[in-house]
Amino acid sequence: MSDLANRLNQLQTDALAALAAAANAGAVETLRASLFGRSGRITVLLRGLGAVDAGERPAMGKLANEVRSAVEAAITERLATLRAADAGARLADEALDMTAPGRQVRVGHLHPTMTVDRDFREIFHAFGFEIFEGPEIETDAMNFEALNIPPDHPSRDLWDTLYVAEPGVDPRQPAADGTILRTHTSPVQVRAMRALSPPIRVITPGRCFRYEAVDASHGFEFFQVEGLVVDRDTSLADLKGMLEEFARALFGDATKTRFRPGYYPFTEPSVAFDVSCLVCGGPGCAACGRSGWMTILGAGMVHPTVLRAGGIDPDEFQGYAFGMGLDRITLLRHGIPDLRLLMSADLRFLEQFPGGR
Ligand SMILES: [Zn+2]
Repeated sequence: MSDLANRLNQLQTDALAALAAAANAGAVETLRASLFGRSGRITVLLRGLGAVDAGERPAMGKLANEVRSAVEAAITERLATLRAADAGARLADEALDMTAPGRQVRVGHLHPTMTVDRDFREIFHAFGFEIFEGPEIETDAMNFEALNIPPDHPSRDLWDTLYVAEPGVDPRQPAADGTILRTHTSPVQVRAMRALSPPIRVITPGRCFRYEAVDASHGFEFFQVEGLVVDRDTSLADLKGMLEEFARALFGDATKTRFRPGYYPFTEPSVAFDVSCLVCGGPGCAACGRSGWMTILGAGMVHPTVLRAGGIDPDEFQGYAFGMGLDRITLLRHGIPDLRLLMSADLRFLEQFPGGR
């Protein structure tokens, strides 16, 4: 056998041994370059074929091609094996342990006042009411005048209402246009009357503001919901039936109700609406002042002046309205003794009311 044949056979043996020893794809690529690169061992040997005797050349060419094919095939196979092993190792690293306990997701819940708000919306939705919301910053005209509250009424005092000052001006000087933070959601009733035409059935949930010293039953910021119905032949009897149904839907079927005369500038006649005490159920306790009753809202027939402010002809249409404090209902529902707790953002308190989501 010629010297060239020996060198080709030796090269194949060396190459296969080196491949078997290659620990990773990188080592195989280095080996490939050392064999097939510009000055690689196989490249150099093939270049030497030209110097072989013409008689031997076909046999040597055949052998050289066999060696090259064998080494190339071995490289391809080794790479495939190493890559499969790599992928296996990576998979093992990334494997999920399906038996491991899951990480607990902490889900929050609604503030108890917002749970009451949701309940109101649901109950009145079932009664055919729609939600109508208005701005928290109002004008004096919308907050007071349109609601039949005269200019000298005590609630318009600087000590009751938060007036919005003009930029750069002493904040104790109200803005000339009488911009205020609304003291109730009642102006939304006027907005609803102007935007809609009878029959109107809306509730107006929202945030209100008053210049109040904060104590267990007063806050400078609170939530109200008011309702308004305007239609032909609407009467106090309709109001009474609706509120009785509402009280049973909110507090349960056993709830007793009563109406008492009341006074509000924007309704005539006006009533106060009581439910049987949510704590003692009637006999009397500290929560209800020994009376057995709790007042939850004020209501009445919409005053003709207010209907006119809303663009409604009081000779053609009548309406009833009612309003209550969401915060107060929340206190009553849960027997919470102090309004300030609701605004405290204290999780130790709030986590006791996980009802709403
Ligand atoms: Zn009671």
